[in-house]
Amino acid sequence: MEKNTARFEKFAKDFTAVVDAHENDEVQILEKGRSILQELVANDDWLPEEFAQPHPEYYQQYLLHEDPQDRFSVVSFVWGPGQSTPIHDHTVWALIGMMRGSERAENFELGEPGTPMKSLGVDILEPGVVESLRPVTGDTHKVSNVYDDRVSISIHIYGGNIGKIARHVFDAQTSTTKPFISGYTNRPDLPSGAQAVQ
Ligand code: FE
Repeated sequence: MEKNTARFEKFAKDFTAVVDAHENDEVQILEKGRSILQELVANDDWLPEEFAQPHPEYYQQYLLHEDPQDRFSVVSFVWGPGQSTPIHDHTVWALIGMMRGSERAENFELGEPGTPMKSLGVDILEPGVVESLRPVTGDTHKVSNVYDDRVSISIHIYGGNIGKIARHVFDAQTSTTKPFISGYTNRPDLPSGAQAVQ
């Protein structure tokens, strides 16, 4: 089926204009960017098939657009049945738009060293819903496919080139922190890549 590539091109152009206008204002970028992402994920007719492919074992992160100055990046997350991330942070702002299926996002905060992390609650994202995250208000979470019998896809925007950013994964039982760079499924030239995102 022919994909509406013009839709994504317009989205990238519009989002770039927001970042140009509000470069150092995270709150404005999230507020104005949210409606642009909302419009993109409300229309599931543009994502090329190659960036919608699940893997039998690992969730996939396909880089769709990188700002030439690394001010933001756009990624399709493809969740196979039952797949989930470790508990992780981002260190930059993020917008998450649900497009196909549904995902479960559980927010956490660190416990004392050696003690379990504390759950701050669960959000279920349905198609068309956009969520935002900011490091200053807490951006540590675990994301899972709600479904164990089908693929879910969400479109994420980050305030940097997320595949290259040094961030963290956490152990739920001990609140232990480990450094982490996610890479991208479709960019094996960068460190990590698909096999490192388990
Ligand atoms: Fe995340």
